Amino acid sequence: MEEENVRKLINEAKDIALRNFCSKYSKFTVGVALLTKDGKIYKGFNVENYGIQAICAERVAFPKALTDLQKDFVCMAVVGKKLNDKYFKETLPCGYCRQFIREYVKDDFIIYTYDEETDKIKSYTINDLLPYSFKLEEE
Ligand SMILES: [Zn+2]
Repeated sequence: MEEENVRKLINEAKDIALRNFCSKYSKFTVGVALLTKDGKIYKGFNVENYGIQAICAERVAFPKALTDLQKDFVCMAVVGKKLNDKYFKETLPCGYCRQFIREYVKDDFIIYTYDEETDKIKSYTINDLLPYSFKLEEE
């Protein structure tokens, strides 16, 4: 994807992360912007509660898209920062989310990360982040 469009997606992820009012326990906000093949963007932030049932931003954004009957995903941007920090730092999906995402994307699905201080974008395929993933059967 062209850098201009990647930056737009990152800005969407930053925007939703900055609006997060549900990360008071970790004090770490994560924003995700998930792009579908038909050009829609589904956003999510981490939703926490007292206890261990927090839901990561990735597992907020994907079900929003899936329950909107979306099935073809192109890429996503993930950003994260401590609430008191000035800059977003490179933030990658946790192991649980990697396996969750893997279920619904193709091998070439791209995850973009962003370091705001250096303005550096990195990209990974889901296979980079989760090689040898669990599969019930061969696809
Ligand atoms: Zn996660």
